[in-house]
Amino acid sequence: MNKKMLVISAHPDDMELECGGTIAKFISKGYDAYHLILTSKYVDKASSSSLQRQNEAYEAARILGIKEVFFFEYSDSNIPLDGDIISKVDNLIDRLKPDTLISHHPFDSHQDHKVAAEIMFAVSRQGRISNVLSGSPLPYRPNIFAFKPQLFIDISGTIDLKLNAIRAYKSQFERYGGELLIERIEAMAKYYGWAIGCEYAECFEVIRMDDSLW
Ligand SMILES: [Zn+2]
Repeated sequence: MNKKMLVISAHPDDMELECGGTIAKFISKGYDAYHLILTSKYVDKASSSSLQRQNEAYEAARILGIKEVFFFEYSDSNIPLDGDIISKVDNLIDRLKPDTLISHHPFDSHQDHKVAAEIMFAVSRQGRISNVLSGSPLPYRPNIFAFKPQLFIDISGTIDLKLNAIRAYKSQFERYGGELLIERIEAMAKYYGWAIGCEYAECFEVIRMDDSLW
């Protein structure tokens, strides 16, 4: 049976930016990957509809090879941290039984990302998920310096898939700089690659990891 990875994002496009290369790499190594996006209601300046953003997430998933995308019904900037949301994620975890769980960093400056990280901690209790990782916040978030990565993944083989998955979010892509965003994300991967002597890398803070990751 294939190993399974679940990625929990607060919003569509979060995880492609933070760890799309790693997701695609693990899929190429035989993992089944699933993406849970906690929000599905957005009111943003680009006036993109919620449906459009969901469709973009499906397209990004197709590019990376993600098996299934799940949307919860929460509103952008208003994800609650309560028993109800934790039991919903618990149920999904009971169903999927992922070996690896990735979500945001608890010191990310976006309140929805913080909540997603807390949910990750809650649902990975009692050792029921072997590998639990926080992805790297983007540098424009001021708390980036709280992020202390210990795990670096060589994504030289999947950087193009990552960048194309980011481009699939057409409603967000131009708003956050278009090709300049791509250049910056590529530069970030190059910088992390420099740390481990490869062309491109992504990195993670390890909450828990055992040798089953590989
Ligand atoms: Zn986000």
